[in-house]
Amino acid sequence: MKCTNCGQENRPTLKFCKKCNTDLTLPPAWFPDWKWHLKTLSWIYLTLIAGFFTVSYLLHKLPPPYDQRQIPPEMTPWLNPHKVPAK
Ligand SMILES: [Zn+2]
Repeated sequence: MKCTNCGQENRPTLKFCKKCNTDLTLPPAWFPDWKWHLKTLSWIYLTLIAGFFTVSYLLHKLPPPYDQRQIPPEMTPWLNPHKVPAK
């Protein structure tokens, strides 16, 4: 049985590594490698980007009152201080 900590070959009956005293009865811990990070982060970013475009597309499908891209200047006089609408 190979030690997961130092790689020392031990007899299968031993419970602790004879070199570094690591507990051999415990299963080796799993740590995410860079491939796992790349895959997971790619999925997260792709989901966020796809979700953004989907929501953006759906919002543009809504009728005009909910799609406030063309706000009349009378409603926002502070954005056009030199073009005060005539009273
Ligand atoms: Zn060891």
